[in-house]
Amino acid sequence: MGTGQDIIIKKGYHKTMNETDELIEKIHLYPGVLDSHTHLILLQTKNLEWERLLRACISSGLEVAMDIGTNTDTFCTRLDMCSKFPQVVMTDGLSVSKSALEDADIKRRLDDLEKQVSENISDPKLVGIGEIGLDNHILYGGIEKQKKLFAAQMEIARQYDLPVVIHTREADSDTYDILSSFKLSRGGIIHCFSSNYEWAKKYMDLGFYISFSGNITYKRSDSIVETAAKIPATAILAETDAPFLTPQKVRKYPNFSGFMGYTYDFIAQTRGCTAEDLIPQIRENFRTLTGF
Ligand SMILES: [Zn+2]
Repeated sequence: MGTGQDIIIKKGYHKTMNETDELIEKIHLYPGVLDSHTHLILLQTKNLEWERLLRACISSGLEVAMDIGTNTDTFCTRLDMCSKFPQVVMTDGLSVSKSALEDADIKRRLDDLEKQVSENISDPKLVGIGEIGLDNHILYGGIEKQKKLFAAQMEIARQYDLPVVIHTREADSDTYDILSSFKLSRGGIIHCFSSNYEWAKKYMDLGFYISFSGNITYKRSDSIVETAAKIPATAILAETDAPFLTPQKVRKYPNFSGFMGYTYDFIAQTRGCTAEDLIPQIRENFRTLTGF
């Protein structure tokens, strides 16, 4: 506090444009675009004004955004945030994270989830359970504990007949085993698809949509690009995973729904069509899955 460095940083800040304004200037969207996976609450951790960003995206054509839960503790705040926007729906769930898994209190969190879902099941805002799944890359809690948390939430999805949003990293085989053992009638979304066409086919056979995020635009994403080119249009969704995974062309910025146009462009290019061609199909896919 009060060091010379603080003063320099503050002066610099006043000279530069507010980052929210800068992002609004950079919006690349088309009318009817949707974002199947965003974390509005996390935009605040990047010192961004989530509400102003979202309003600007909606004025530029964003038709739907799905706000994804990672922790039941934030559910009420998120519900308030989403309730301000008729274009936004949401999920509730416990992601593979330190707070959910390195906590002796998993049962309490699962009870919270069940209670929140049961209390809000008739609210059209709540359209799914997620994000849930397995992550062999970060390995919080160990894979066995992750599997238990995942399966317990699949059970809640089955009980309330909700689709699920799946996070799976370096864990296709175990993820597939759990998804196929539950065979949810509503299916769900493989979010931020990062695997290959063979796995995509298996997930699609279980009634899952494949959602592509900004990482499809990065180097060394050949198997993701191949999948986007080959799968039926009726299985495609697209997302930001904001504030993460910003598309390559604007990668120095935090991600937000305003950058969805880049991901639509890229998917379209791999399929030899245009973003405008994809928009109505992706919208229809989302409606079929969530009813919204
Ligand atoms: Zn996410």
